[in-house]
Amino acid sequence: MWMEINGDGAAAAGVFGCNGAGVFFMKVIVIGAGPAGLTAAYQLVKRGVEVELFEADVQAGGMARSFELWNQRVDCGPHRFFSSDPRVNEIWLEAVDGRYAMVSRLTRIFYQGHFFYYPLRAFNALFKLGPLESLRCLGSYLVEKTGLAGRRDQSAFEGWVISRFGRRLYEIFFKTYSEKLWGISCAELDADFAAQRIKNFSLGEALKSILLPQSRQKHKTLVDEFAYPHSGSGYVYEQMAAFVQQNGGVVHFGTQIKRVLFHDGRAVGVQSVAGDEYHGDHVISSMPLTQLVAAMDGVPQSVADACAHLNYRNTILVYLKVGNDALFPDNWLYVHDSTLLTGRITNFRNWVPGLYGSATSTVIAMEYWCYSNNELWHRSDAQLIKLAKDEIAHTRLVNIDEVQDGFVKRVERCYPVYAKGYGVHLKVIKNYLDGFDGLSVIGRYGAFKYNNQDHSILMGLLAAENICDNAGHDLWSINTDYVYQEAAVITQTGLVRTKS
Ligand SMILES: Cc1cc2nc3c(=O)[nH]c(=O)nc-3n(C[C@H](O)[C@H](O)[C@H](O)COP(=O)(O)OP(=O)(O)OC[C@H]3O[C@@H](n4cnc5c(N)ncnc54)[C@H](O)[C@@H]3O)c2cc1C
Repeated sequence: MWMEINGDGAAAAGVFGCNGAGVFFMKVIVIGAGPAGLTAAYQLVKRGVEVELFEADVQAGGMARSFELWNQRVDCGPHRFFSSDPRVNEIWLEAVDGRYAMVSRLTRIFYQGHFFYYPLRAFNALFKLGPLESLRCLGSYLVEKTGLAGRRDQSAFEGWVISRFGRRLYEIFFKTYSEKLWGISCAELDADFAAQRIKNFSLGEALKSILLPQSRQKHKTLVDEFAYPHSGSGYVYEQMAAFVQQNGGVVHFGTQIKRVLFHDGRAVGVQSVAGDEYHGDHVISSMPLTQLVAAMDGVPQSVADACAHLNYRNTILVYLKVGNDALFPDNWLYVHDSTLLTGRITNFRNWVPGLYGSATSTVIAMEYWCYSNNELWHRSDAQLIKLAKDEIAHTRLVNIDEVQDGFVKRVERCYPVYAKGYGVHLKVIKNYLDGFDGLSVIGRYGAFKYNNQDHSILMGLLAAENICDNAGHDLWSINTDYVYQEAAVITQTGLVRTKS
């Protein structure tokens, strides 16, 4: 608890205060009603802080929002929630208030007409690849493991993966998908992406589990099951927004913020695109980092240059309504096949019954990734729906005659691109923004971190603690080790509470 009174002694800009009961008088402005911004607002309201939140969209949830489509509920692609951090699970459980289920995960890779389990299972992979290709994989794996390949540069994704899996497995299971997703060569992709996102797979361990069944894992892990709200991932954030509003906070939907206002090196409010100004004692921003900086006055050239090096990848989601309630069994599929432009296919029928209710059709979503200057981004909805129909027919997962309707959703800047060396540029921006008081930068595009929901929830949580308790958390350092998280064990009572 801490207090700082300005010259007027009033609860105005620059005033932070609390009374003995822990009720704060300060006002915090939050930009964005995604997991990061809403968690911050939710926690602050609980602590008695006055909160005013601005969201450009008309609903809560950000990229994790859910919406109605053809009388069913869908998300923006697959959105499983998982975390081994008890603080994150606690807040998620509190907001979802029991309205969730544990969903068994089935995800496979579609490659050259075959389906491979993901995470990879050695027997399945070797069987589907056939003896010759399997030998090639094993050979190139051994070349790496025995050190025959020499010391490999692991600063880029390519070297990082090859050194762990061998070149052939890399080419089959990582290269095409990653290049589709990021739109750059894997040699240009920073190894940070691999370190955060790839489940370790050891051929030795996998073979052991085939030959010695008793060595198979006895507990379900985050790889096997995930928690999911009955009415879509966005439900959690809708609940948080409602709580904020019911407890004195103000949420402005449909209000895009143009810039943060500063005075004497301190954030003192925001200005909307419509020109309205709103003032507060602290600003938490989850708007795109590059947009935040671009709208600031007097930005040094070095910082502007650093921003110019940071790029985001967009997603186009093409939803198809299929007149069949028993398509393929996966929650989602990764499409590695380079003859197809789509990278991932979600089958919402395989998540929870609350999504489809009594509907007898299935909604699938096909993801296409591109930059804003790519031709794909500018195709018409009709062209994109035709593309999706042609591609799903190619996979033979759906009979094209059963496709009844299509819908397109474009989501901008959803992937912060970890191009090799991006960290150097991000640090320049971080150092610059750290020079301002009263500003917290959080979130997936807000802090240019390849966050899942749990990372953004944690950022919001810790941003609130920094404000309320002067906790001094380094928000930039959040985005935890993915491998560690997925190895966490799920308890019998449901959500993860222990670590393996
Ligand atoms: C296709 C896809 C699949 C994913 N799958 C998973 C998954 O399986 N599991 C998982 O945990 N995560 C998944 N994610 C990631 C998850 O969606 C994000 O980590 C999470 O939504 C990030 O939350 P955030 O609050 O940081 O950002 P966002 O969700 O992007 O929220 C930011 C909010 O700020 C608003 N905003 C932006 N600019 C302004 C402005 N100028 N003024 C006002 N408002 C503004 C936006 O409208 C948005 O609502 C997936 C993401 C995508 C795109």
